[in-house]
Amino acid sequence: MRTLQVKKLAASRLKKGYPALEEYDFKTLDQTTEGELVRIVDQQNNFIGKGYLGKENRSVGWMLTLDKEEEIDSVFYDRHFRIARDIRSAFYADTSTTAFRVFNADGDGIGGITVDYYDGFYIFSWYNKGIYSHRDQIYQAFKVAIPDFKGIVEKVRFKNAPIESQHIDGEVPPEPLMIKENGIQYATYINEGWMTGIFLDQRNIRRKLMEEWGAGKTILNTFSYTGAFSVAAAMGGAVKTVNVDAANRSKAKTIEQFEVNGLNPDDHEIRVIDVFDYLDYAKKHDLKFDLIILDPPTFARTKKRTFSVEKDYVGLVREVLEILADDGILIASTNTWKLSRDDFYQMVNEAFDEENVDAYLMDEYGLPEDFKINENYVESNYLKVMVLEKLKD
Ligand code: SAH
Repeated sequence: MRTLQVKKLAASRLKKGYPALEEYDFKTLDQTTEGELVRIVDQQNNFIGKGYLGKENRSVGWMLTLDKEEEIDSVFYDRHFRIARDIRSAFYADTSTTAFRVFNADGDGIGGITVDYYDGFYIFSWYNKGIYSHRDQIYQAFKVAIPDFKGIVEKVRFKNAPIESQHIDGEVPPEPLMIKENGIQYATYINEGWMTGIFLDQRNIRRKLMEEWGAGKTILNTFSYTGAFSVAAAMGGAVKTVNVDAANRSKAKTIEQFEVNGLNPDDHEIRVIDVFDYLDYAKKHDLKFDLIILDPPTFARTKKRTFSVEKDYVGLVREVLEILADDGILIASTNTWKLSRDDFYQMVNEAFDEENVDAYLMDEYGLPEDFKINENYVESNYLKVMVLEKLKD
């Protein structure tokens, strides 16, 4: 195993449990082999830990252990999967929620891999080529730790990956694969592409929409995808939802999510249109909504425009404020790791200031419990959701 020396500041934070290796931690990192296991030492050549090299976003690798005696082998992976499963025993036991995250990368001790549970099926997502090169050993350890799986599929999410998605073991998942979340049904499709039809990290927001915020409301759900937020709100007594997404596929998928819950899709609007065009239309027709959900992707290119959270979020909030009723609720969400909680807070604040609108911050959310966060790496809590009430002048 090669020994790599890190600079002083890197050494001190790695010793405290910071899990990511950054390029600037090293004086020279001339040759990097994806997946190579390395010993990390400080400037005095004292042992800090062991990790692996794998390029992912701004990192060049992840620490795996600070224990000199620990080997990175099947036993290591097996133990991590068992611990991850055991601390989620409440999720396994809850029959009203059958989809959740079982293993959350560095939060569970191995950066670069996540594993989601979908009603007995497990979805592995691989975020860098380095850890993917250890996949055979990792799958083998997983199957020993968690042998009672129905099937395993994988999503490969780094650049120039050989494939996007494939079946690995056990049964091929049915299409759709029905999952439950707080008693609500969702039709998911886990055999192709990265997206399954539901983003599990927004579970707590959907729960609040069902239990509290949705009742009696007229709701605008922008970037609505399969309409999951709307279905939760409708189950909680929302009067009507308007779902806006530019992708053609979103219409049939949203209809399906309503129908599998016994809701009539005709009570709702499902519009395949660019959000910005819809907002122009809504302003022109003087529409008003009691609750608006803004949960755009970090970056998207549609036929007409490219959208990025950094460039467009402030403008987006400004526009929706014009069609939000007095005392209405705005759910402003982003999942980009590129913005800190403070950056995001400031952007939303700026929009309210520029529109001269007062607001009350009702609630704030991050990742749910099963998306275990590494306490030494705040950046891993990428989800930021602000719930604001618009106050009358
Ligand atoms: N909020 C959703 C997930 C959004 S995924 C949920 O929690 O379920 C992002 C969606 O934004 C995709 O479905 C994509 O088609 C859509 N999208 C991206 N840019 C868009 C635009 N300019 N107008 C409308 N929809 C857009």
